[in-house]
Amino acid sequence: MPEKVLTFEEARAVVAHHAAGVTPVRVQYMDVADALGRVAAEDLRADRDYPPFPRATRDGYAVRAGDVQQLPAKLRVIGQIKAGDICTRTVNAGECVEIMTGAAIPAGADAVVMVEYTRREGDHVIIERAVTTGDNIVTRGAECRGGDMVLARGTRLRAQEIAVAATIGCSQLSVFDTPPVAILSTGDEVVEVDQRPGPVQIRNSNAYSLSAQIERAGGEPVRLPIAPDEKSRLRTLIEYGLSSDLLLLSGGVSMGKYDLVEQVLGDLGAEFYFTGVKIQPGRPLVFGKVRGRYFFGLPGNPVSTMVTFQLFARTIVDALGGAASRPLPFASAQLKSEIKTKTGLTRFLPARLIPDIAQPHVELVPWNGSGDVFAQSKADCLLVIPPDRERIPAGTIVTILPIG
Ligand code: AMP
Ligand code: MG
Repeated sequence: MPEKVLTFEEARAVVAHHAAGVTPVRVQYMDVADALGRVAAEDLRADRDYPPFPRATRDGYAVRAGDVQQLPAKLRVIGQIKAGDICTRTVNAGECVEIMTGAAIPAGADAVVMVEYTRREGDHVIIERAVTTGDNIVTRGAECRGGDMVLARGTRLRAQEIAVAATIGCSQLSVFDTPPVAILSTGDEVVEVDQRPGPVQIRNSNAYSLSAQIERAGGEPVRLPIAPDEKSRLRTLIEYGLSSDLLLLSGGVSMGKYDLVEQVLGDLGAEFYFTGVKIQPGRPLVFGKVRGRYFFGLPGNPVSTMVTFQLFARTIVDALGGAASRPLPFASAQLKSEIKTKTGLTRFLPARLIPDIAQPHVELVPWNGSGDVFAQSKADCLLVIPPDRERIPAGTIVTILPIG
């Protein structure tokens, strides 16, 4: 089979192109209380203006700003409004109303003086600081107007979006179903995690790291039995995996004699969009489609599996779950110590961010290559090294990709 090896950017573009063509249709209604992390399947519109009335943002006195230009000003207090009260009085010249945060500004008033700048004298108040029209008031409709779209279809719901849905009275909302994603680990040496491994056997950690990553990406992991490096059993399990929306294979995609994944997928009539990416870790990554289903052949080394999921497969899981496409959330930080490397591959090395409000720093986690899950668990980001760099001096601003 001819190799199709792309650069990181080319491979990302291919995956993003396919993700853009995915159109999930299965939706369900869900209580807003249960919808955290789900993806909205409908646009939500504001049921009325927000705020629905001009709202006081401070405790104090609702005044006519013109009355408090000459200081100190003495105004007659004609009433009190707390949040939830309806005030029928109009504030006339020389008057004010005591008001609490969240209450509706009464007619006639156009500013609120904070209580901290006032002194009460019986039914009058002495005001010691001037205000201008609009101070400490959010006007009706300033946040959004009735009918405005406040949450777009395809948005993954965080606490912020849950707040929006609850605010506009959306106690139930339509969300996309979580797509089932099959995980098929391959390898004669791989055993289940609850089995005692022989001296040269390896536990199937990839099925579990992938499950966790799939869940976090809004998918539903479906773990299949381990496939041996033998064609007919591998084929049976691949066919079984194709009943999910996406098939993730781990292992068996390198150049070894027993790396059979591509052969078996080819026998099933697969189309391969790429069969390698110039990255480290994860160079042997495969992406394609067979029998109407996308698949990724992820390299079996545990760090490669996690990193290639993060860089590529996650985008398809997101799309199958209805989430609008997003670029990878690259950020930057200042390199703590010099890095020397070889050119040719874009590298995504495990690194640790040293938070700082002025300038975050980043340093590599010492690692033993793409099998080192222990190093990866000490990392909170990947440090991205472009393919043309041999040496990056300390102090350089570098690109990072946060990982969860
Ligand atoms: P492969 O991609 O099949 O050549 O495997 C590369 C390396 O990853 C080998 O050292 C494998 O033992 C290891 N490996 C493969 N599959 C898994 C798995 N499911 N869990 C943990 N390690 C694995
Ligand atoms: Mg293998």
